Amino acid sequence: MPSATDPATARRGGAHWQQGWLAEARACPSPNFGPRPAGAVIDLIVVHSISLPPGTYGGPEVEQLFTNTLDWDAHPYFATIRGLEVSAHFFIRRTGELIQFVSADDRAWHAGASHWRGRSQCNDDSIGVELEGLEGERFEPAQYQALVRLCRALKTHYPIDHVAGHEHIAPGRKLDPGPGFDWPRLRRSLRWPLHRFPASAR
Ligand SMILES: [Zn+2]
Repeated sequence: MPSATDPATARRGGAHWQQGWLAEARACPSPNFGPRPAGAVIDLIVVHSISLPPGTYGGPEVEQLFTNTLDWDAHPYFATIRGLEVSAHFFIRRTGELIQFVSADDRAWHAGASHWRGRSQCNDDSIGVELEGLEGERFEPAQYQALVRLCRALKTHYPIDHVAGHEHIAPGRKLDPGPGFDWPRLRRSLRWPLHRFPASAR
């Protein structure tokens, strides 16, 4: 492993990892995680969308939800998810700001019942990335740029071989990030082969 303070290494990959934490992300540690199963091959990036209340951007509520500090009585919608304990590894705001809640070495709680590339329980061996947004709505150019940088950074450190949406790994149950997410754009930007993406990336 290169030294954590080696500036050449940090520049070369544009990614600097320390125990699963990415230096370029703002760390906001969540208690909602656990160990991955022994031998887990972390080869999947799961793209989600979230906003709280839905459709409202820029507030602290998503960070509060993922750190179990959301005031359930502050909005009628919050009462419908009262007590929910969830997390994702990363959150990308409309501005492109990148926030990390769980070490990518650990198991975050974002996928739920799920199945992809022949394996179930995708939380075991995936990285969850939440985009601030709403199912069916578009996402910002800054978010695609941040997501591309993040996917590349993940690929430098983990054997990433698949990218899919929550809607793909939990069809019929989840709809995010939805039709407003431009999969072909992500694929073109990453220049990764088609087989790594859902069919909608064609
Ligand atoms: Zn989701």
